[in-house]
Amino acid sequence: MSYQVLARKWRPRNFASLVGQEHVVRALTHALTAQRLHHAYLFTGTRGVGKTTLARILAKALNCEAGVSATPCGSCSACQEIDGGRFVDLLEVDAATNTKVDEMRQLLENAVYAPTRGRFKVYVIDEVHMLSNSAFNAMLKTLEEPPEHVKFILATTDPQKIPVTVLSRCLQFNLKQMTQPLIAAHLKQILEDEAISADAGALQLLARSAAGSMRDALSLLDQAIAHGAGKVEEAQVREMLGAVDLDHLLSIVDALLAGDAAAMLRVADEMAARSLSFDAALQEMAALFTRLQIAQLAPQAIADDLPERLRIEALAAALDPEFVQLAYQIAVHGRRELPLAPDEQAGFVMTLLRLHAFRPALASDDAGAGASATRAVADRSAATSSAVLASPAAPRTPPPAGSSTAASLARSTPVAVVQPAAAVATPSVPPAALPPATPTTGDWHEMLAALKVSGMARELAQHCELRERQGGRIVLRLAPAHRHLLMKPAQDKLQQALGEYFGSPQQLAVELEATSGETPAASAQRDRRQRQDRAIAAVEQDGFVREVIEMFDATLIESSIKPV
Ligand SMILES: [Zn+2]
Repeated sequence: MSYQVLARKWRPRNFASLVGQEHVVRALTHALTAQRLHHAYLFTGTRGVGKTTLARILAKALNCEAGVSATPCGSCSACQEIDGGRFVDLLEVDAATNTKVDEMRQLLENAVYAPTRGRFKVYVIDEVHMLSNSAFNAMLKTLEEPPEHVKFILATTDPQKIPVTVLSRCLQFNLKQMTQPLIAAHLKQILEDEAISADAGALQLLARSAAGSMRDALSLLDQAIAHGAGKVEEAQVREMLGAVDLDHLLSIVDALLAGDAAAMLRVADEMAARSLSFDAALQEMAALFTRLQIAQLAPQAIADDLPERLRIEALAAALDPEFVQLAYQIAVHGRRELPLAPDEQAGFVMTLLRLHAFRPALASDDAGAGASATRAVADRSAATSSAVLASPAAPRTPPPAGSSTAASLARSTPVAVVQPAAAVATPSVPPAALPPATPTTGDWHEMLAALKVSGMARELAQHCELRERQGGRIVLRLAPAHRHLLMKPAQDKLQQALGEYFGSPQQLAVELEATSGETPAASAQRDRRQRQDRAIAAVEQDGFVREVIEMFDATLIESSIKPV
């Protein structure tokens, strides 16, 4: 059995089976039924929406041996020959390959002769905008005084390029672009008739890739059937299209929400390893943010059968709606900048990091950013942090005595606030998986605020982390890069201030070793940077500023923005 491509096999052969162009079909049906025939029709619309299919059905309606009607019989020799593409009085010309004026003139000279077999001689000129000016002039002569037996059916994707003298002599119909649900539904119908099994996710993917063209959708479906050996499944279709698994993108947004830039980059690496297209990924990401915003603002519009519905709803609940707007823009801009990036992955990664930089400064930032560094510290201070870990979702638990634990609890509270939203998707996350709080650094931040030190001593203290405190002995950690701060007078002053703070003499030691990055100085710097980022984001989101940027193709000089 020879395989016939679906696009040909399922090409609609009558008005009733034409999908998605009801408005055109209604008008044509009405005109044909009333026998009000025009001599020139123009079908406009993007590729693959059914222009030439409609032209052929119209040619049948005009030439069917059963008479001019909106329902050609489909079985007479005229109908069958038109369907088979061998009807002598149907002249199909593709102007994209046949633009020469001589050929056009010759074709039109034949128009004066009566049709050989049919009622009308039908000229179908596809991509008519491609004709040269002189070819248009040759056609215009026939259009001005058309012989009774001649009908023109013109089709174009670009009506703007057709001379107005030609346009004005045509009855124009604009064909609509096929919507994604319409294409998916049509594919589903075809597969049911063909007895081929398919899942909804696969059809959605195919429909989206077809970008409004039913013809493209059908040839993609052909490929998918061949690729899947008679089955159409989402994973195969995804592989065939090189489409990005939504799972990757959802993981990126999860990581974004957790403020975990490293995790975002890991996903990018994974995608690179599978040689997925980063351009497609950014496109999908913009689509994801669109869906998230819809889930936030019009949740009833999210399809019930969407496989990722639960995860999308959870993310929608956790993200700030205004940020989703910004994130969409960042994704779209990132895609536009992709050709300018050093390489595709770099462009993608920078877009992810921009999302990270502009995410609303969640109160959990301190805990989130320091999470990995804190883990090491957590072992040593397990005793202190266990109180926090035991009750991560209950920040109202009264803190045990001792201001140090209270401080660390306060720092961990925002994590507990953010986590439940993300936890909707993964309810099985055990509390222990939460980033542990930072009791040690928390202590130090707190302590430093109360210390009576200034100048070099304060400078030194701000770049230190508390390593341990036992009895009257305090050990601080200072990154080797800041060793210049370690001067005897400063250390002595700091030791004295610590003694005053604890109400008993303290022995201070400062070790030169790598810090976790959670020094008071680092936090202060990050706060400044976040305030700056927020200020930049606010300016960038300002309607007036955006208009100016669009209008003049201007660029914001970010360093000129100062947070208020
Ligand atoms: Zn017929």
